[in-house]
Amino acid sequence: MEGRIGVTSENLFPIIKKFLYSDHDIFLREIVSNAVDASQKLKTLASVGSYNGNVEDQKVWVKLDKEAGTITVSDNGIGMTEEEVNKYINQIAFSGANEFLEKYKKDANAIIGHFGLGFYSSFMVSDKVEVITKSYQEGSKAVKWSCNGSPEYTMEEVDKEEVGTDIVMFINDDSKEFLEENRISELLNKYCKFLPVPVLFGKKKEWKGEEYVDTDEDNQINDVAPAWTRKPADLKDEDYHNFYHQLYPMADEPLFNIHLNVDYPFNLTGILYFPKIKNTIEVQKNKIQLYSNQVFVTDSVEGIVPEFLTLLHGVLDSPDIPLNVSRSYLQSDSNVKKISSHITKKVADRLQEIFKENREDFEQKWDDLKMFIVYGMLTDEKFYERALKFFLLGNTDGKKFTWEEYEDLIKENQTDKDNKLVYLYANHHEDQYSFIEAAKEKGYDVLMMEDPLSTHLLNLLEQKYPEKRFVRVDADVAEKLIPKEDDDKEKLSLEEKNELSPVFQAIVPNGKGNFIVDFEDLGESANPMVITQNEFMRRMKDMSQLQAGMSMYGDLPDSYNLVVNIGHPLVKQVLADKDASLNAELEKINQEITNEQNEKEALNKLREGKKDEEVPQEEKDKMKELDDKITSLEADRRSKLEAFGRGNQLANQLVDLALLANNMLRGSDLNKFVKRSIELIK
Ligand code: ADP
Ligand code: MG
Repeated sequence: MEGRIGVTSENLFPIIKKFLYSDHDIFLREIVSNAVDASQKLKTLASVGSYNGNVEDQKVWVKLDKEAGTITVSDNGIGMTEEEVNKYINQIAFSGANEFLEKYKKDANAIIGHFGLGFYSSFMVSDKVEVITKSYQEGSKAVKWSCNGSPEYTMEEVDKEEVGTDIVMFINDDSKEFLEENRISELLNKYCKFLPVPVLFGKKKEWKGEEYVDTDEDNQINDVAPAWTRKPADLKDEDYHNFYHQLYPMADEPLFNIHLNVDYPFNLTGILYFPKIKNTIEVQKNKIQLYSNQVFVTDSVEGIVPEFLTLLHGVLDSPDIPLNVSRSYLQSDSNVKKISSHITKKVADRLQEIFKENREDFEQKWDDLKMFIVYGMLTDEKFYERALKFFLLGNTDGKKFTWEEYEDLIKENQTDKDNKLVYLYANHHEDQYSFIEAAKEKGYDVLMMEDPLSTHLLNLLEQKYPEKRFVRVDADVAEKLIPKEDDDKEKLSLEEKNELSPVFQAIVPNGKGNFIVDFEDLGESANPMVITQNEFMRRMKDMSQLQAGMSMYGDLPDSYNLVVNIGHPLVKQVLADKDASLNAELEKINQEITNEQNEKEALNKLREGKKDEEVPQEEKDKMKELDDKITSLEADRRSKLEAFGRGNQLANQLVDLALLANNMLRGSDLNKFVKRSIELIK
């Protein structure tokens, strides 16, 4: 018998080949999963008493015949009668394929690798496909359907003893790779590893002397009852571990797992693992695998799993995730959204549970968990709220606290005069050592926040808690990190500051950012000079490196404060030196400036009440002359102070020591410092 398949286009096959070009290998998944379906259907019939034959031994065989150029997939499932071949293969499957291609012509790439084409995907790799099938129904005759890629097919009666179906694919010239045993093994391992009916391919191999040889034992590809399909109550820790290694043979032990099992309002099972993060590349290589009724679909789960969890490992299985649609559709699908938020909730619950049950263990794993948790808090509002209960802050002594515990710890001592709670943190223990020590000496606690996400996290926390703020230990001298009541320490007037600044401004290094010189009485036991970095500016710069659109901050030079401790004897000495060598000259200049200023004031008096055009030109000229003179006197004063600063060994030494303490003294500057130190010791 001959016929035409129910299809509108003259020849569908070139289109199939063209559109699905990049993902040819799904054909095997489709054909094998049809065989599995056929077996499952027969089992269902047997279970309701509609079939009396044996269903204990359901299997799928994949056979390769290199000489004949064929791949054959056989099953002992339900089979088809001639009418059924007509209906399912000629009409339904083909019209489905046709409709599918019409619909997704433009979007074909988005759906590649997902379901839709089923049986007809075999034509992507075949010149001809034969279906030899015998139905389970009593008295049915076996038939052979054959089609060479045109809409014409032939159907004839054949001899076949057993109930079931053979699909024979005559592989085309472009697809010869699929006639290699290794390639087929690879595909079966990728797509069929956890199908619920045994899939057999060749024989188990054994290492004999110099090569692998076939044994008598059938080589079963799949585990028919993978861990995620079983009840959590039936599984031991060991089973979860074994399953993990089944998925990722080379990976390190995971930290712990989360078994998902939902059947309402959607169907979802799976096991997710928190991996040990040795290095990110390794972690990224092993991805979460998405299955639909144990058939592998994809390992790109973006959209289904919230982004911060895409680095987890494991398996998700849901027949409710629409697979034959594009990614953008997936993201707006309400079922998918529900699944994603359910996963988030489950993960948070599990973390909370582990934290409560075994805090010590949780703390030990914290370094590996931190990245997921902080990332999750930053990107997922719901997760943030849940995580606040188990997210940990670590201090410089390695102790860990919850958000609540830490607040209790510092409340007493670290509340500033505006009643804000100040959280001190460091991001580099060694570089900021002296600041950390200074803060601790004041009885403060210092948090360690080394990783780049921390900056984002503390911004978020400040946003959530306006009455709290984070300050890095080197943002100011310890005395001023947490401003308390105004103290009665010695203070310099603005004029005094202005006059002294140039002495030190002349010494700070060029090309290392902007330095602002400030004066503070920090007492005799503090260092004579300290370099600090303004919290706001520094944080803006940090952020700009992590975030697009903020590069204007990134382009700014670093800005530092050089705090000169006027309470320190060595600084007092510098100031005394300055007085001794410059006082006479400076007094003269200052006197002159005062004179000019007096004269200027007198002129200003004359001008009072006059409009600009009423002021005689002569007076205007005089005014300008005075201004210029004052400017040049001031410049003169500054350059004298600068010259003094540059020439003063002690001042230079003190600035260098402050730079050194901040790890900012390098190269020729460091060399100069060493030479000068030797001079001074001699
Ligand atoms: P789907 O599997 O989504 O129904 P397919 O195109 O893969 O679509 O298959 C079309 C139909 O052909 C199946 O629904 C089934 O009825 C029939 N079929 C395909 N392969 C087999 C098989 N090995 N045994 C029995 N029936 C099969
Ligand atoms: Mg199918």
